[in-house]
Amino acid sequence: MIEHDVIAQATPMPILVAPQAVLRQKTRLVRPEDMDGLRTIIPRMFAAMYQAPGIGLAAPQVGLGMRFAIVDVSDKDGPRNPIVLINPEVIAETDSMAAREEGCLSLPNQYAEVVRPEAVRVRYQDMEGKVQELEADDLLATCLQHEIDHLEGILFVDHLSTLKRNMIMRRLAKEQRQKH
Ligand SMILES: [Zn+2]
Repeated sequence: MIEHDVIAQATPMPILVAPQAVLRQKTRLVRPEDMDGLRTIIPRMFAAMYQAPGIGLAAPQVGLGMRFAIVDVSDKDGPRNPIVLINPEVIAETDSMAAREEGCLSLPNQYAEVVRPEAVRVRYQDMEGKVQELEADDLLATCLQHEIDHLEGILFVDHLSTLKRNMIMRRLAKEQRQKH
């Protein structure tokens, strides 16, 4: 479990914006000896995600080539529900697909409708190393698939046509140039 006051006191980690090479690399599995470091980093990732604000953040987005991500799709007016997914994988998915508008903290201000399996079952380890399974539909299903994609070096724009993807990446690059 992640304590809320630990997140509140953590310094947000900087979030990398595409095209950063690390966002395109497949991550390696988290090992037990990584966990000490992750206990410091994960609250800082939550702090960055809540500040953005966003509903998911994967390790490559903060420059780490390790297979873990965090999500919280709770209503912003209700209690938070932070979930840490260590070495997550989709172990089942529905044949039925659903389209949902997606964005990404590494592609700020860019949104597009992405078609994915409507519901998924994800297996992962929690912070204590215990194997967990999570069945998700709706927003959480989209979010989990989006984050697990990140761990393979895949961005949501990769699910779009080349034309649409190039358009978004050009627009992002232009906006980033104007910002700096
Ligand atoms: Zn993302």
